Amino acid sequence: MADLSQFTSLHVGGPAQNFIEVATEAEIIKALESVGDEPVLIIGGGTNMLVSDNGFAGTVIRISNNQVNEEVDACSGATLTIGAGENWDDFVASTIERGFAGLETLSGIPGTIGAAPIQNIGAYGHEVGEFITRVRTYDRHNKELKTFTNGECNFTYRNSIFKSEPGRYVVLDVGFQIRRGELSDPITYAELASKLGIQIGDRAPVKQVRATVLELRASKGMLLSASDKDSWSAGSFFTNPIVSNEIADQLPADAPRWPTGDGQVKTSAAWLIQQAGIEKGQMHGGAKVSTKHVLALTNSGNATAAEITELARIASAAVKAKFGIELQPEVNLVGITW
Ligand SMILES: Cc1cc2nc3c(=O)[nH]c(=O)nc-3n(C[C@H](O)[C@H](O)[C@H](O)COP(=O)(O)OP(=O)(O)OC[C@H]3O[C@@H](n4cnc5c(N)ncnc54)[C@H](O)[C@@H]3O)c2cc1C
Repeated sequence: MADLSQFTSLHVGGPAQNFIEVATEAEIIKALESVGDEPVLIIGGGTNMLVSDNGFAGTVIRISNNQVNEEVDACSGATLTIGAGENWDDFVASTIERGFAGLETLSGIPGTIGAAPIQNIGAYGHEVGEFITRVRTYDRHNKELKTFTNGECNFTYRNSIFKSEPGRYVVLDVGFQIRRGELSDPITYAELASKLGIQIGDRAPVKQVRATVLELRASKGMLLSASDKDSWSAGSFFTNPIVSNEIADQLPADAPRWPTGDGQVKTSAAWLIQQAGIEKGQMHGGAKVSTKHVLALTNSGNATAAEITELARIASAAVKAKFGIELQPEVNLVGITW
C-alpha cells in the first residue's frame, strides 16, 4: 500500500487503498475508466493538500505526464500546450530562458501544470488564469473529454469551475498564451516593486523579476525545500477573506484592505492571524506555524495530519473570536471535515 505522506509536501497522510502512477494521457484515461464511479483522488505534486492520517479509501492517481506542444510565432509570442504532470516552476523557468514574458511573478510556486487552474494559482499581483487559453479535461461525470475555454473556467480568486465541482474534471493538459519580451508586465504588488527599486506600475527585466520573487518567497518560507522543514507546508493554509464593506470598516485602521471592485474588500488572513495572537514558530504537537510566515502551517518533522488540522482550528478560532471572520482553508482537505 502506498503511504501518501511520501507524496505530499506536508509529509503527512495515511495509506491509499489503490495507487496508480500515470505518465501519458492514454494511461490517465485508462486508469479513470478502470475505476468507474469509485472514489478517486488525483495527486500532482501534493503541495496543496492535507491528507488524513487514515489515508484514502479509494484509488489515488498520481499524474506525471509532461508532454509539450507548442506553436511559436517568432515576432510576438507562443501558444503552448503542456501536459498536466509537468512541474509548474520548470515550465515558468523554461519560458523565461527562451525569451518569453508574463509568468515571472508566478515563479517558485510548487506543484504541477494540471493543478494550476484548479485554484487559479496566484502570487505577487498575477493569477494563472490571465495566461490560460483553454483547459482540456476528462469529465468523470459524463465519461468524455471536455475542453474549457478561458471564460468557461470561471477563474476568480483561488477558485475555478474545477474547484467548485471537486473531482469531476481531471485536467489532461493546459494551453497558455504568452508574449515575447525582456520586460515584465507592470509590477502591481507594492512589496515586489519596492524590492526591485521601481514604482508600482513600472516594468523590470523578466529575469530580475523572477530572481527577486524567488528571493522574497525564500524569505517567507514559501519556496519548497526538502531539507528545510520550515517549508514543509501546503503554502498558505487559508485564503484571504473577502468581506463586506461594513465588516471591513469594523477592522482596525491598519488592517490591509484591497477592494475587489464589486463592493467587497479582501483582507489579509496572515494579518488577522497575527493580530489574533498566533505567533510564528508556535507548536501544536509536531505541527508548527512557520517561523517565517504565520499563514504557512508546517510539519516540524513528526506531525500527524490531525495535529496540523488542530493547529489550523486554533488559528481559525482565534481569528473568529477576535474579528468575527471565518477563515476558509485554501488547502484541499482529504478525509478531513472542516
Ligand atoms: C511552499 C509552498 C508555496 C506555495 N505558494 C503558492 C502561491 O504562491 N500561490 C498559490 O496559488 N499556491 C501556492 N501553493 C499551493 C500549491 O503550490 C498550488 O496550489 C499548486 O498548484 C498545487 O499543485 P500540485 O500539483 O502540488 O497539486 P496537488 O496538491 O497534488 O493537488 C491540489 C488539488 O488539485 C487537484 N488536482 C491536481 N492535479 C489535478 C489534475 N491534473 N486534474 C484535476 N485535479 C487535479 C487535486 O486533486 C487537489 O484537489 C504553495 C504551496 C507550497 C507548499
